[in-house]
Amino acid sequence: MESKLPTFGTSIFTTMSQLATHHGALNMSQGFPDFPVNNELIDQVHHYMKAGKNQYAPSPGLPELRQVISTMNAEMYGHESDPHDEITIFSGATEALYATFSALIGQGDEVILFDPAYDSYDPAIRLSGGVPVHVNLNFPSFDIPWELLESSITAKTRAIVINNPHNPTGAILNENDLRRIAELAEKHNLLIISDEVYHNMIFDESRHQSVLSFQELRKRSIAIFSFGKTLHATGWKVGYAVASPQITRELRKVHQITTFSVNTPLQYALSEFMSEADHYNYLGSFFQSKRDTFLNYMEGSFFKPLTSKGTYFQLLSYASLTNLLDEKMANHMTEINGIASIPISVFYQDKTDNHVLRFCFAKEDATLLKASELLKAIPQDQFIADVTT
Ligand code: GLN
Repeated sequence: MESKLPTFGTSIFTTMSQLATHHGALNMSQGFPDFPVNNELIDQVHHYMKAGKNQYAPSPGLPELRQVISTMNAEMYGHESDPHDEITIFSGATEALYATFSALIGQGDEVILFDPAYDSYDPAIRLSGGVPVHVNLNFPSFDIPWELLESSITAKTRAIVINNPHNPTGAILNENDLRRIAELAEKHNLLIISDEVYHNMIFDESRHQSVLSFQELRKRSIAIFSFGKTLHATGWKVGYAVASPQITRELRKVHQITTFSVNTPLQYALSEFMSEADHYNYLGSFFQSKRDTFLNYMEGSFFKPLTSKGTYFQLLSYASLTNLLDEKMANHMTEINGIASIPISVFYQDKTDNHVLRFCFAKEDATLLKASELLKAIPQDQFIADVTT
């Protein structure tokens, strides 16, 4: 049988997490917190299960939850999305992304992605018959190479995917970036697929610039979010997409035939929990302090941090020490030094290797300390020997 995705293998997140388990290494690779979900929220999930809220939810999502999201959007982005026909609940951002590509990308449509790119975009575009066009972000700032972007747009370009704040680099887009994207989208009549799952995790006084805040972008954008990130519950797989009624109608068709609806008691619990109190505005300072704690612990190490302005990821460069390829480096460190991270070259179509690794700092302070101790204990000559072999 011919594969529809012949070159696509097991995700780097699975690969590194399995390797960490196999070697008993500290897992700083796949992005998930090691601290617990709020107990009150867990009690509410139990409550709704016991109260019999265990059958199918409405396919677009529980109206109460869509209303909570609409209120949140108004507060955060100055736009009250219509819960009735602009907000849809999905089984995580992953399903929302897949539905977006399936519903909106046709045979031969080109879709521009910025590398390093989150791993689910490219294969999802290919499965819908589209052609991913990869544009490398500038290094080490990871900002957009505007001329290259504009020269990559052709008559076949249908959409640009942006991921802001950006996984794996921690870069963010500013207001001017969004305005330039809006101009390009307008000029070439493009859709903007905006993965904003880390929207609450933004540092150093910066404000998240959502496509939802820009009237000219709203009508041509699909903004995608995930409660997995906001509530430290990546395993719950509840996300949502916000788009115009016309686009939403198409997304819901795909959602209806893939999962139909999302976990009912979770949706009830989330709508109650999120409407009771502000459970998201603290996340920026919370994760900024995690980042700073990790960086403080790392002082004096040969790993050099790149700037992380958002998400819960920190890139560390080992370029001054060795030119060992990052996949090899990550594997060695997991096997020999007991700490797992994510190599960045796997997110580039052209396998650009800048000798940087990604570490997830959504961890207890004790875990961050342990990670820094393991990293600082790595003997520099370990890799000098490797380079020569
Ligand atoms: N988004 C998570 C990360 O970047 C991984 C999610 C997954 O494993 N599919 O680490």
